[in-house]
Amino acid sequence: MTTIEHWIGGAFTRGAATRTGTVRNPATGAATGEVLLAEPADVDAAAAAAAKAFDAWGDSSLSQRTKVMFRFRELLVRHEDELARLISAEHGKVVDDARGEIVRGREVVEYACGIADALKGSYSDQVSGGVDVFNFRQPLGVCAGITPFNFPIMVPMWMHPMAIATGNTFILKPSERDPSVSNRIAELYADAGLPDGVFNVVHGDKAAVDAILDHPGIAAVSFVGSTPIAKYVHGRATAAGKRVQALGGAKNHAVVLPDADIEFAADHLTAAAFGSAGQRCMAVSVGVAVGEAGDALVEVLRRKAEAVKVGPGDDPASEMGPVVTAASRDRITALVGAGIDQGAVPVVDGRGLTVPGHEEGFFVGPTVLDRVAPGMAAYDEEIFGPVLAVARAADVDEAIALINANPYGNGTAIFTSSGAAARRFQREVKVGMIGVNVPIPVPMSYYSFGGWKDSLIGDSPIHGPEGVCFYTRAKTVTSRWPEVRQSVEAAFHFPTAS
Ligand code: NAD
Repeated sequence: MTTIEHWIGGAFTRGAATRTGTVRNPATGAATGEVLLAEPADVDAAAAAAAKAFDAWGDSSLSQRTKVMFRFRELLVRHEDELARLISAEHGKVVDDARGEIVRGREVVEYACGIADALKGSYSDQVSGGVDVFNFRQPLGVCAGITPFNFPIMVPMWMHPMAIATGNTFILKPSERDPSVSNRIAELYADAGLPDGVFNVVHGDKAAVDAILDHPGIAAVSFVGSTPIAKYVHGRATAAGKRVQALGGAKNHAVVLPDADIEFAADHLTAAAFGSAGQRCMAVSVGVAVGEAGDALVEVLRRKAEAVKVGPGDDPASEMGPVVTAASRDRITALVGAGIDQGAVPVVDGRGLTVPGHEEGFFVGPTVLDRVAPGMAAYDEEIFGPVLAVARAADVDEAIALINANPYGNGTAIFTSSGAAARRFQREVKVGMIGVNVPIPVPMSYYSFGGWKDSLIGDSPIHGPEGVCFYTRAKTVTSRWPEVRQSVEAAFHFPTAS
């Protein structure tokens, strides 16, 4: 069994940890690693290493930072298969799905490769006689990221490439459930030529998180995880004077209108509900069947859910793997049971599924519950498992009202052939990310990612242009220069940046 250590100042270390957490392969249930759980002294050591590295990195040229990002991007391509297998072994998702998250994370690195453009300031000539005004943005210093288990490579990559390319240094506190891939990322950054101390990984639980939130040497905290912890992180870190991004949980509704292609909609709902065993913040967890779409949609969903191939993530035949822990499995199956007790109709019931040869794995089969409504635990709770609840609505107004009354507002989608209905939906729905005939509308890296309401605490979305603003602060200079003449020795080679 491997010991998963911290990465601080360019080297692995055991630090001050006396506690460990067990990492398991969800497909077999077997313990595969012991992850160190940091004490505040480890966060101190990482903050000191990151502060020391900031002296030079914060002053490094755009050209130098960009070169590292390009090399890092190439290493992510070269090591894609190895990284995908590492993710699958600790998270449980199928290897192809893990590749998908690597690609989406890499897109943020690609955006960071062009950070020079995003960091361009503005200039106003001659605002007064002989006076010009311009602004530019500078890094904050040491930044930290606290991330969830469900995208162990992509979600941290919403943060660290943006922070590092804009000149900050970074401490990542990944999920303790699937920590190994973060250490490989640290090694790949080192191979890309990132100086020691610019990227650090501190493994741990609440003790590490609290030490980060309170640390006077950390300027900003990015958090992605469940809503209660997002609220806690936002409150505690802003009280300590830090800049905070805090993205929370979700309950994403996909509305299917009677004029939609039902087969097409059901295909996408099935993939969006059961991909990654429903453990995506943008998973579709509620299908809203409008009017006469209802019975037909449920029937096609039954057929497609029953056809999903469930198995270990490293079997190329598997379309859906296990959920992350035994506790998650038990929580999911309890919520399905509560839903049925409260009146939901089980269309497909995935409880009790066993996969031959993997009897100890944490599997839950695809589950479809019909006639789910607010007030039922299966609707009110974020289940975060392979469960698609179907709610019925009489018309599009009722569907929009249902979504707007939900406390979450991360993603939503509408399936229709009516442009007018889609336009009305996108204007009236109180949700941050909307798909039109697209089930999982995760914005590209050059837009920012963020929900509304309880899915985003505070007002800072992640990556894209708003990510650049988050990791930098502006200076505005008003300047006047009396005319000066000076002679400079001419250089005859073509000018290059260094
Ligand atoms: P989680 O909230 O349990 O954990 C997230 C991070 O917080 C982890 O690093 C964990 O160690 C830490 N943490 C957990 N409990 C803590 C506590 N009491 N005090 C301090 N720190 C604590 O989330 P998870 O189960 O790892 O991930 C699933 C959740 O993340 C879901 O709610 C999902 O919707 C959400 N999520 C949201 C987005 C988004 O973009 N909005 C993206 C991915 C995941």
